[in-house]
Amino acid sequence: MSHVAVIGAGLTGAATAWRLAQRGERVTVLEQAMPANPQGSSHGSARIFRYAYPDPFYASLVAEARDHWDELSETAGVPLIRNVGSLDFGARRDPAQLAGILTSIGVDNDLLTAEEAATRWPGLHVDGPALWQPGAGVLDAESTVTAMIELARAGGATIRTGWTVTGLTTAPRPAATAGRATTSSAATTPDPTAATAVGPTTPGPTATSSAATGLTAATGLTAATGLAAGSGRCRSGPPTVRS
Ligand SMILES: Cc1cc2nc3c(=O)[nH]c(=O)nc-3n(C[C@H](O)[C@H](O)[C@H](O)COP(=O)(O)OP(=O)(O)OC[C@H]3O[C@@H](n4cnc5c(N)ncnc54)[C@H](O)[C@@H]3O)c2cc1C
Repeated sequence: MSHVAVIGAGLTGAATAWRLAQRGERVTVLEQAMPANPQGSSHGSARIFRYAYPDPFYASLVAEARDHWDELSETAGVPLIRNVGSLDFGARRDPAQLAGILTSIGVDNDLLTAEEAATRWPGLHVDGPALWQPGAGVLDAESTVTAMIELARAGGATIRTGWTVTGLTTAPRPAATAGRATTSSAATTPDPTAATAVGPTTPGPTATSSAATGLTAATGLTAATGLAAGSGRCRSGPPTVRS
């Protein structure tokens, strides 16, 4: 069993913690504030869930992710996505191109003429083709984070709030005692792998080095997945709140 320190409890960190705990890994979440921190991005109850991205890679990731959302919703017993559908139109969205991408990855869609769209939605002024995605909808970001954190906790994860990670330092391997997450409260966690999920908008910890362990990659704080891993040490600032 490995020990993973997940830094940040937004959607990315919470998902990482949930899945790792589910796999039986030892997990410690270090969050500078609280899960779904309003200063981060994963707060609020009304965000867009849509498949239509101009890059097929991202569109197919959404299709894959939908199964995980449904699994989470069912496991937690909480509705997380409301399938109200979505409509893309206007020159900047290029509905025809998006429809081609969705069709190529098997996502249900309907490319409508302006006239068809105007008939279905008489209150909208649509002056070109429009893409209807019935599977899109509104997602509840905060409930999603909460559901994943609670499932991670139920799976044995430790959730520490009010813990700001200020740096990452590598340690030599493979010594059995190498690597330690240390906080100023003197709490230590041996031999963790760091998974940074500090989001695109908040400044985060910096790693000192080590291409060998991959910890330098952990400074990729703006990575879309938010998940980069490496063996080493985490150094945290003083906790202000703990749970
Ligand atoms: C206003 C707004 C609207 C959006 N609308 C949509 C939408 O409609 N559809 C959509 O798909 N996406 C939307 N997004 C984007 C989406 O919300 C983000 O991509 C997603 O929430 C990012 O999640 P995250 O976990 O990577 O980052 P965050 O949610 O930012 O989480 C990062 C966490 O790391 C913690 N942290 C940071 N630094 C440290 C540190 N040093 N030590 C410990 N913890 C730390 C933060 O406190 C925070 O809790 C929107 C974003 C915003 C801001």
